[in-house]
Amino acid sequence: MAKAKIAVNGYGTIGKRVADAVRAQDDMEVIGISKTRPNYEAAVAHQLGYDIYCPAENIGAFEKAGMPAAGSIEEMLEKVDLVVDCTPGGVGESNKPIYEKIGIKAIWQGGENHSIAGFSFNAESNYEQALGCDLVRVVSCNTTGLCRAITPIDRELGVNKVRSTITRRAVDPNEIKKGPVDAIVLHPVKIPSHHGPDVQTVLSHINITTAAMIVPTTLMHLHTLNMEVNTDCTAEDIKKILSSQSRIRFVGQGITATAEIIEVARDIGRPRHDMWENCIWPESITVTEKEFYLFQAIHQESIVVPENVDAIRAMMELESDGAKSIEKTNIAIGLHNK
Ligand code: NAD
Repeated sequence: MAKAKIAVNGYGTIGKRVADAVRAQDDMEVIGISKTRPNYEAAVAHQLGYDIYCPAENIGAFEKAGMPAAGSIEEMLEKVDLVVDCTPGGVGESNKPIYEKIGIKAIWQGGENHSIAGFSFNAESNYEQALGCDLVRVVSCNTTGLCRAITPIDRELGVNKVRSTITRRAVDPNEIKKGPVDAIVLHPVKIPSHHGPDVQTVLSHINITTAAMIVPTTLMHLHTLNMEVNTDCTAEDIKKILSSQSRIRFVGQGITATAEIIEVARDIGRPRHDMWENCIWPESITVTEKEFYLFQAIHQESIVVPENVDAIRAMMELESDGAKSIEKTNIAIGLHNK
C-alpha cells in the first residue's frame, strides 16, 4: 500500500515532534514541513533533511539564509493527503478554508476549539470513530492525560464522577519571553477550568470538573486526580487496570518530582527528553470505598505526539483496530524503551 503523504504546517514544539514521529512510521511519510522564517529551528529541520515550505514572499529569505525552500506552503499542501496543523492556537482556524479549498484531510491541535473539526480525538478513547474522518482535532496535553486515565477505568469499573486539580507548567522551556517567574496564577479563577468540558468533547458521558493553576516551571504538568467509580475496588485493582495501558507509565523508586521524571527520560535516551506516557505514581493510588485518588505528571511537549500519528492512521484508514495502531506507533517511536 502507498504511504500516506503528510504535511506538517507549523514546525514548533508540537510540529517538530509530530514530523519526527510520522517519519518513524512505515505507512506514512513527511512530504514537507512549514516554517515562516529561516531561524535556528528551520536550520535544524534543513539539517534533518526535511523539505521546508514557507510563505511565498519569504522564499528569497530562506535562499539567502542557505536553506532553500522547496516551495510555498500552498504548494506543499497540494502534494499531500493530510495536513497536521501545528500552528499556534487560533491560527489553525484561519487555515481551514485553505485546506478545504485544496481538498485535503486535516488534523488540528488542542489550542483550537472542538467546533473546528466537530470531532475531538484520543486514541484509547475513540480511535474507531475517527476512521475515514476528514477533519479531526487532537485534544490538548492535559485533556489527553485525563482521557488516557479515565477511559480504561470507565471501561472496567464505570466512572461516576471525576474531579481534578491541574497544576500547569507556565511555559515550554524555549519560551523565553513569558512568565510567571514568581507567582501561582489561578487559570482561571472560576471553576471549572476548560479542561473538564474539553474531556467531554471526547467522553461526553463523563461527569468531570477541573480546576487549574499555573506555576513557574517549564517541565511538566501535574494532575491531582480523583475518580468515583460504580464498582467496589481496591488500589491493586486500579493499578492493574492502569498498568495494562502502554501509554501509562508508573513512576516510583524514590521519584517525587517532575524534574526527576525528566531526568529518567534523559537517562534512557528519549529524543528531546520526551515522555510520551502519563506518569502515574502507583504509591499515590488511594481508595476509600468507591473513590480513589492519584497523582500523574504530563509532559506537555510530547504527550499528544503518538495521538497525532494514530489520528492520521485512523483518518487515512491504514488500520481499523485502534489497539494495533497504538502498538505500531509505540514501537516505531521507541516508546517501549523504558
Ligand atoms: P509553537 O509556538 O511552539 O509552534 C507553532 C509554530 O507555528 C511556530 O514555529 C510558528 O512560527 C509557526 N507558525 C505560526 N503561524 C504560522 C502560519 N500561519 N503558518 C505556518 N506556521 C506558522 O506552538 P506549539 O506549542 O507547538 O502549539 C501548537 C498547537 O499545539 C497549539 O494548538 C497548542 O495549543 C497545541 N499544544 C501545545 C502543547 C504544548 O504544551 N506546547 C501541548 C499540546 C497541544
